[in-house]
Amino acid sequence: MAAAGEMLLEARGVEVTIDGIQILRGGDLDLRAGELVAIVGPNGAGKSTLVRAVSGLHRPSAGAVSWSGRELAKMRGRELAKVRAFVPQRMPVPAGVTVQEAVTIGRSALLRPLGRMTGADRAGVDAALARAGVSHFADRALTTLSGGELQRVQIAIGLAQEAPVLIADEPTSQLDLGAAIDVAGLLRKLADEGLGALVVVHDLALAAAVADRVVVVHEGRTEATGLPNEVLTPGRLSRIWGADARLTAEHGRTALHVAWLGPTA
Ligand code: ADP
Ligand code: MG
Repeated sequence: MAAAGEMLLEARGVEVTIDGIQILRGGDLDLRAGELVAIVGPNGAGKSTLVRAVSGLHRPSAGAVSWSGRELAKMRGRELAKVRAFVPQRMPVPAGVTVQEAVTIGRSALLRPLGRMTGADRAGVDAALARAGVSHFADRALTTLSGGELQRVQIAIGLAQEAPVLIADEPTSQLDLGAAIDVAGLLRKLADEGLGALVVVHDLALAAAVADRVVVVHEGRTEATGLPNEVLTPGRLSRIWGADARLTAEHGRTALHVAWLGPTA
């Protein structure tokens, strides 16, 4: 685990061009150990492209990304697996695979080609199952899990890599309110334990409730970064989301007050 507050990820001016189309024009991000940073923005803003680019899953056409001071461009497979775990929006759920087996496969990202699982690897799998709160259903088949349980398992697979950073792309977007609260609480707990968590979320109330900082991505650029209430202002909610909305947080409750049907007389 990285030391508290240690800078783990720095990205500046990241650009991504796919098939001649510039999708990301200026992505900026910082992430420290123990911090939960939420990336928000409307559909198609470039959030997934940004987190995939800093993770090494898209090659940036410009910009600088470093992981604990190491340049992303110089890092390869296993080295990347040691600095960050990437939790995809939705993982494939093959029939007949148990939770324990799926997390063991996650751990294998750390092994050398054809390397064998050691006792330490098995202990790492058990620790990941426990940290994600899924040990009690480790023997169940993935196909039998609820959406929230599956998301916890995806996080456990990421944790099995023992990387200091976990990146999750919309981990709560398919979940009902209770399951979303559960997964958000897990991510918050992991950050409090020292993990750096970078989470794409489209629920602004959820982002404001759990994140230390919010990064707003709009039209392929990072346009604002800061505390949720500094960044998610009524002016920005109107300009970017076209919503007449206001965020409030008091007594541990966060709410997004929205004029769904326009202003009333
Ligand atoms: P978000 O995650 O914020 O919804 P994305 O990063 O997925 O946005 O996409 C940003 C924009 O880039 C969208 O307009 C999307 O259609 C486009 N895009 C994403 N991936 C590709 C791709 N592989 N080829 C072409 N266009 C893409
Ligand atoms: Mg996306």
